[in-house]
Amino acid sequence: TGSKPDISRVKSAELYEKSKTYFPGGVNSPVRAFKSVYGTPLFIEKGDGCYIWDADGNQFIDFCGSWGPLILGHNNSKIREKVTEVMQNGMSFGAPTALENELAELIIKNNRFVEKIRFTSSGTEAVMSAIRLARGFTGRDKILKFEGCYHGHTDSLLVKAGSGLVTFGETSSAGVPKSFAEETIVIPLNDTAAIEQAFAQFKDQIAAVIIEGIPANNGLIIQDEDYIHFLRKICTKNNSLLIFDEVITGFRVGFEGAAAYYGVKPDIVTYGKIIGGGLPVGMYGASAEIMSHISPDGAVYQAGTLSGNPVAMAAGIATLTELNKSSFYKDLNNKTQDFVASIQRFATARNYKFKVFTVGSIFWFAFTDKDKIQSADDIDASSMEKFKIMHRELLNRGIYLGPSGYEVGFVSAAHTKIELEKAKRAIFEALDLVFRS
Ligand code: PMP
Repeated sequence: TGSKPDISRVKSAELYEKSKTYFPGGVNSPVRAFKSVYGTPLFIEKGDGCYIWDADGNQFIDFCGSWGPLILGHNNSKIREKVTEVMQNGMSFGAPTALENELAELIIKNNRFVEKIRFTSSGTEAVMSAIRLARGFTGRDKILKFEGCYHGHTDSLLVKAGSGLVTFGETSSAGVPKSFAEETIVIPLNDTAAIEQAFAQFKDQIAAVIIEGIPANNGLIIQDEDYIHFLRKICTKNNSLLIFDEVITGFRVGFEGAAAYYGVKPDIVTYGKIIGGGLPVGMYGASAEIMSHISPDGAVYQAGTLSGNPVAMAAGIATLTELNKSSFYKDLNNKTQDFVASIQRFATARNYKFKVFTVGSIFWFAFTDKDKIQSADDIDASSMEKFKIMHRELLNRGIYLGPSGYEVGFVSAAHTKIELEKAKRAIFEALDLVFRS
């Protein structure tokens, strides 16, 4: 089989022309602009289960899932019904509601890592607030982050490694003051010497170490369990807080996220995406003692007009109620692992330089022959050309992956054996085309 003809993008292209007159790059979040893959962005019209349809009527099996939130698939009836019911009573009060208690109880009763929480409206906000809390709690200013982890677009985290093993960060976005970046130390993942050196060099200055529970924004960079335990120990030893940014991994690799996956207790956790079931919700949480520093109890200010919004809480309640059922994760993870294992077997049998890295229902297609990818430096940027070809071939076969080779894919509860079989066949064909053309 050869390449398939490109799908029709007449309506999407028309909408894109218009959107470019309204929004920078025609989009409200950069990766949506399809800059790293072929063609113009697809404008999505509707979703149902594991399917989405674009403005031209093309149908796709979706492995992006709105970048993670849709663990139950698109337009889940339980979420829709709950949201519709709650909406009948109005959409925002800026006052406490019983729904916030209900979602909080679902989380706190089933999570060993948080005693008190605060809802925000995005992952970025959750992380920004967690950082402020860590600084307020410790009375220290510096933050240590890892090259290859993304934590949203808060100023102090839009920072990349400078030259040298342990460096102040350099801003990775215009508009971030150099002085802010100087409060952020950036080191490679999976490197015990680097973090030891950082703690020696910046003794008693580091408020917190922040890491993605399982780094999943720059490929899937799975860390050894030992390394995560090491981070816990070195933070404790230096009276610094360990922050797990679980915006992707929270409620994804299990109800209690990566913290339970590794058996490591972070001091502060952040959630986003799944917690809102597709509506804008973020959350940060910690022990009651640490959270007592948040205003109005404590001196660390943080607020939000739409925080705890009742409609968004309803979506969260409906979602987490499903996830809390006994075999939810076992079923989802087993299904995903069968799917990726057969893709790996296919590629290995043909000697393709291709690896699927995976945890739970997260997977990442890497054009590499490395068995492990544990730091950003392990990723070969030139391999992204192969992803571009694969992405196009998959779209043309009705399979939708996020439009960048650095993005992970997600399997949802709505993907059945039928769609996974269909997706597998398309992936096999795409791989043959990538490696044989
Ligand atoms: N942290 C992590 C680990 C993320 O993956 C993301 C979003 N991809 C964010 C923070 C930011 O979340 P949001 O886009 O909701 O602001």
